[in-house]
Parts: sequence; C-alpha cells; structure tokens
Amino acid sequence: MPSASDLLSSVFGFSAFRPGQEDIVRAVTEGRNTLAIMPTGGGKSLCFQLPALCREGVTVVISPLIALMRDQVRGLKEAGVAAGALTSGNTDEETRAVFDALDAGSLKLLYMAPERLASAGTANMLRRIGVGLIAVDEAHCVSQWGHDFRPDYLRIGELRQALGVPLAAFTATADAETRDEIVARLFDGAPPEIFLRGFDRPNIHLAFAPKDGPRRQILDFAAARKGQPGIVYCGTRAKTETLAQALAQDGHAACAYHGGMGPDARRHVEARFQTEDGLIVVATVAFGMGVDKPDIRWVAHADLPKSIEAYYQEIGRAGRDGAPAETLTLYGPEDIRLRRTQIDESLAPPERRAADHARLNALLGLAEALGCRRQTLLGYFGEAAQPCGKCDLCDTPPEVFDATEAVQKALSAILRTGEWFGTGHLVDILTGTTTDKVRARRHDQLPTFGVGREFDRKGWQAVFRQMMGRDLVRPDPERHGALRMTAAARPILKGEEAIELRRDTIRAAGRARPAVK
Ligand code: ADP
Ligand code: ZN
Repeated sequence: MPSASDLLSSVFGFSAFRPGQEDIVRAVTEGRNTLAIMPTGGGKSLCFQLPALCREGVTVVISPLIALMRDQVRGLKEAGVAAGALTSGNTDEETRAVFDALDAGSLKLLYMAPERLASAGTANMLRRIGVGLIAVDEAHCVSQWGHDFRPDYLRIGELRQALGVPLAAFTATADAETRDEIVARLFDGAPPEIFLRGFDRPNIHLAFAPKDGPRRQILDFAAARKGQPGIVYCGTRAKTETLAQALAQDGHAACAYHGGMGPDARRHVEARFQTEDGLIVVATVAFGMGVDKPDIRWVAHADLPKSIEAYYQEIGRAGRDGAPAETLTLYGPEDIRLRRTQIDESLAPPERRAADHARLNALLGLAEALGCRRQTLLGYFGEAAQPCGKCDLCDTPPEVFDATEAVQKALSAILRTGEWFGTGHLVDILTGTTTDKVRARRHDQLPTFGVGREFDRKGWQAVFRQMMGRDLVRPDPERHGALRMTAAARPILKGEEAIELRRDTIRAAGRARPAVK
C-alpha cells in the first residue's frame, strides 16, 4: 500500500502537509479515536479522506452540509477515488449508483446526511457494508448549546458503539464546553486523542530576503550561526553540492543530500546529522521526511519553496525542542518564473494548476508582505494573530511608498510591447537604455521609452519582482517567460486603485533617487 505522503501528492496533488495534518492523518489511519479542532480552511477534509484510502473498508462521512458533501464527492471522483453520497439532493440514479458500488464492495468513502441515521434501514445497511471508520464533520453540531445543533448527531455515538469502529471528529469550534460535549456524546467510554494546536510555532523567527548575491547571503547567515545544526534547502541537486562545498571552505561541517545519492550515502548523512554536533545539511526537499532531530537551530532556503505549505513544513523542522530557531528564505524573479513554469507544464488538470498558482501566490504574498509575516502566514491557514515581534518585518517595519505611478509605467511598457518581453528588456525601455534589441525593435520610439529614470535597473527589477509577487504580472512560459498583465492589475492601470510597494528593496538597489511624488 502506498504511504500517506505518496497519496498526498499522487491523489490530492499537494506538495506537503499543512500544519497539524500529518499528526492527525497518522492517528486516524492507525485507528485511534480522534477529535481534531482546526480553523476553517485549515484542511480538515484531507484528514479523513487520506486515512480512508489507507484503511480497509468503507469510511462513512457524516456532514450536515449537502453542497459541501457533493463538492467533495465530485473532487474525489475526479481524483480517481470511489466516493458517493446519500443525501436528499440525490437523483434516483445517483442513489442507485451508490448502492451498486456498495454492493460491489468498491466504495471507499460514503458521505451521509445525519437525517439518514434516523432510519432503521441505514443502521442495517451500515452493518452490512463493512464500515472501517466513521468521520464526523462539523462535530460541534452534537452540542445543544451551539446554534448549529442537529438532533440526529446524537445518534452517532450509538452508531460508533454498534459498529465497533474508530471515529474521527472534526470541528472549527474550539471552546472547552463544546469540546467536552463532543467527547461525552460521540466518544462515550472511549475518549479520543484531541488535536488542538494552534498552527503557530512562536519560537521560530521568520525572515525573507530578495536574492542579492545569494551564495554570500547564505554563507553570511550560516557564519552568524557557526557550530549550530542547520538545514539549507536548495532547488536543485547540483546546487546542494556546490553550496555544501562553499560552506565547508568557510570552515563549517557541511554535506550535501539529495535524491540522486544512493540510499547508503543518504542514510549516512541522516545518521551524521542526528549524532554530530553542528552539522549543516545542504539538501533538496528529499531531506526531511525521516529527520527527527529536535534541536535544529536554523533552516535557510537558498531558493523559493514550492508552496506556502511546503515553506511551513520545511521551516517547521527547526526548533522542535521549543528553543529559539531562525529561518531565512531567499527568493528572486527567476524562482518565480521557474515555479510558474513547473505548474504550467505539469500534466495536472486546469483546476489543480489554478490552485497551485494560488498557493504559489500565497507564498509570494508572504515574501513581499508589508506587515508581520507570522500574521500573514497564520492568516493563510485560517488563524487570526497579532503582530508577532519575531519576524524580520516586526523587527524592522518596511517603508512603503505609493507606487501607483511606477506600476502604471511598468504595465504600460509591457502592453506597448505586446506582452512579448521579459524584465531585462522592459527595464531597458523604462530606463531609456538603447541596446541593440531596443534599436532593432524601434522601442526607443515608444512613448514609454525613458519615462522611468527615477529608479535604476535594480530598482525597476525590484518593482517587477514585487509586481510578480502580487500577481499583477505573470511570466508566460509559452512566450519564453515574457511578462503578461493579469486581471488584478487592470484597476491600477486605469487609476481606479492605488498600490503601495516596499521601498527597502528598491532603495537597497543602489543610487536610486526617490520616486517623484
Ligand atoms: P476545512 O478545514 O475548512 O474543511 P478543507 O478541507 O476544505 O478545509 O481545505 C481547505 C483548502 O485547503 C482546500 O482548498 C484544500 O484543497 C486545501 N488543502 C488542504 N490540505 C492541503 C495541503 N496539504 N496542501 C495544500 N492545500 C491543501
Ligand atoms: Zn511579525
């Protein structure tokens, strides 16, 4: 049987677990009674869908939300999972198909509205079909004090006892009274393992930096933490080797780790990392699944991670012991281009590619955030938070400026050249640099030529990078990465919306004069 992490990518198309998911998935798969409290949007459904595939028998999912059940069934079917729903929204044909699949023993997930539990026929049917697990969504509906009380939920506890199978309950409502009531009513005599963990890892300091001599940036970060165990994640195998060498030359104990190394060599690195003091492992994402070292003091990304989930999982390997740990994530326009191209060129269906773009946007939004990073990160996972005081942007709040005019100039350079050019050429046009290419295309005749003399090249590159980070422009792989405007940029171009950008990276860009405005 494939492992949970294989199924995570092959069936669900996710690159990493979200915070909390992995532990819950493990508990549910192992057949422990569980109650998981996760914020809305935190990714609860995966926590029963994935175990359903790993376990024998049918997983019965009870949910009060018919539209949501139908959505999930459709999604699962598209992913090739045998799932069906019995709800009042069914056509006769749909219901017949579900019963046929149950009789054939092929169904893995059976979604059911709680009303169904009231009929004697349902209990008999469930006894017959070989239920292996009961999953209860919106478990707070069993609580009489909440406004979502569903009397039929009171039957679930009996059902669990009658079938003698494990039960996994999920809710976003975390107050202690509701929790106690759920435990009493669903798990009478068989108390569940409770997962109630905020997603925050407050001991981990968060920081991002645009690439600006990335090797030097990583070497400096490591030098400031000499002798402390750390991980440097790289986008390619080749880079793990060269960066490990550079670190070794700087006097660190460092070694490379990637999927192209033999199993023995990999195990050797894993063992050294566990036992040796202060080793740095320079690795691809292949490193981490099996690593269980509580005192990793820092994690650096030499390249942008794949998604915000992957970012969280990778930095989350630092500071498991609760002592302070530090992270640094580097990113540049070439990372963004590479990630976009990887998504566009994948064979995934269009909706999944759109979701991947959205997850990348979330990470880029975090990279280019104007305020507390932790607030942005936790907000993405559905958790509200105050500014944390433990991220680079809380340490030094960035200076922002009204960049509406600069962004309009950049967009106009893109549009006037037919959305056929990359950053380099666009910057030439904006700064009024007459290159051969500019002359050959007669782009020195454009009204946009030389209108952007308020910034130097690096300044404009930072503007374009931040625009990519906000998804105002996207590189088009079918046009060799030429930048194209997205719908989100239209109101800015038309002057209906203003936009602020961070000044820091633009000023760090050298002799840039302040924007005229
Ligand atoms: P809720 O906790 O509100 O029930 P869902 O299960 O509907 O949340 O998940 C919310 C969103 O998060 C969905 O769009 C889902 O595809 C996405 N999601 C869940 N798990 C992951 C993951 N490991 N990586 C990326 N996206 C995920
Ligand atoms: Zn902060």
